[in-house]
Amino acid sequence: MRSDLEALLLNCRNLPSPPGVALRIIELAQDPDVVMATAADTIGLDAALSARMLRIANSPLYASRRRVDNLSQALTLLGLNATLTLALGFSLAQGPRGGHHPAAQERVWRRSVIAALASRLLGQRVGLRKLEELMLAGLLQDIGMLALLQVHPDDYAVLLARHADDRAGLREAERERFGSDHAAVGDWMARHWNLPALLQTAISESESDASSHPFHACVAVSGLVADIWLAADPAATHAAHQRAAAESAARLGLDELAFVGVIEQMATMLPEICALFDIPVSAPARIEALLDQARELLVVRNLREIQDAARARKDADESESRARRLAEEVRRDPLTGVYNRGQLETVLEKEFETATRHGWPLSIAFIDLDDFKQVNDRWGHLVGDEVLRTFAQALVRHVRSSDIVARYGGEEFLIVLPGIGEDAAAHVVRRILADVSGLAMAHPAGAPLYITFSAGLATQGTLDQYQDVDDLLRAADEALYGAKREGRNRVAVGATMGG
Ligand code: GH3
Ligand code: MG
Ligand code: MG
Repeated sequence: MRSDLEALLLNCRNLPSPPGVALRIIELAQDPDVVMATAADTIGLDAALSARMLRIANSPLYASRRRVDNLSQALTLLGLNATLTLALGFSLAQGPRGGHHPAAQERVWRRSVIAALASRLLGQRVGLRKLEELMLAGLLQDIGMLALLQVHPDDYAVLLARHADDRAGLREAERERFGSDHAAVGDWMARHWNLPALLQTAISESESDASSHPFHACVAVSGLVADIWLAADPAATHAAHQRAAAESAARLGLDELAFVGVIEQMATMLPEICALFDIPVSAPARIEALLDQARELLVVRNLREIQDAARARKDADESESRARRLAEEVRRDPLTGVYNRGQLETVLEKEFETATRHGWPLSIAFIDLDDFKQVNDRWGHLVGDEVLRTFAQALVRHVRSSDIVARYGGEEFLIVLPGIGEDAAAHVVRRILADVSGLAMAHPAGAPLYITFSAGLATQGTLDQYQDVDDLLRAADEALYGAKREGRNRVAVGATMGG
């Protein structure tokens, strides 16, 4: 600090200075051996201070169910640390007022008192524990402005008026005019008064937007919150609100909802706090309008979030059904639409395991179209394809939904019949053969084309126990060759093992 300013401060008789009670409290706060009785004695000396302590103990800040009606109860409820910190705040705020520019002084105090509450509520939101210290730091952050108003009353009043809504501009002008800004002057005073280091730093960093210490960040942001109440017109109120909300988000991580919560608490508690510090509350109507607006914004934002969530859910549903469709496509044979060989192997493995474990029967039928090569040779591959398609669809129609139809390859199909024994399976497949051979599979050159098939059956069941799926398939394949050998257009049952 420039030495001329320091000399002025040191020699200024009207400097806001701690009254005797405050000085004594500062001493007590730094004495580790102090007990509540000593604090109560000191506070009790000052009737006005005692009344304030009683009042704050009954305020919404310390809402207790029981009404506190004497100083000793009040101080017990508050605890030693809160008692000393609050008492210091009250006694400093009671320091000499007046001077040449009472309106300017009043405005500084008003911002400080509002900031004190904001600092405490912000700290509470972020989970800080030193709430009284936060309040005191919020209250004292502009003590340097009061000092400048005493040592350079007229000059400083002009600067204050010129930069009413522009703190950065004000500090710039202070540095230019006095060589130090009010934060530096406040820091000097805090040291001069022997205030605890935490408070001193909070005061010197109150205008900084750099401090990452949450305590100091709360104090710095509290001033911006107070600016909402000090703004001259609705547009300035709105701008101050935007700025305080943005800084709360950036420096304290408070979202819009939490910030509006702080503003609502402020609106509720401010009349009581202002009364405690003899500060007029103003513009409650404008603050109410601001709160309404903020709540509306939140509703709009919530709506938008709900819509976004719904859209995201729809997208997820769509991509899920697309994935399901793709997975299904991977399972199916593109020409006939029945399961392909890969999927057949997976499903058959599972059915085989289940049947074997429970002792349930499981039958399979290997089906091979008879003389299919001739169809291709005579009518061409396109007609051959059509026959394969129509045949596969006929198979699907003839079995139950729990049965599985798969294209094994070429003109070979496999039917899996879970829970069906040997005899029943032979019956089912013979019926299919009888039905299908009477169906026109295509109409090349306008004439119906009929085909037959040969089938070989094998059953995992009571008579036969196959080691694995391959054994079962081999048995069915052998039976199929038997059917072909015997003249086609028939169903053969696999030779039972060992009998
Ligand atoms: P068999 O009664 O002994 O089974 O006589 P086949 O003619 O059916 O037997 P083979 O295995 O010799 O012939 C099968 C034919 O099936 C040969 C092949 O051209 C035909 N084929 C295999 N896959 C397809 C296909 O996807 N489309 C068409 N159109 N024909 C196919
Ligand atoms: Mg074949
Ligand atoms: Mg064939």
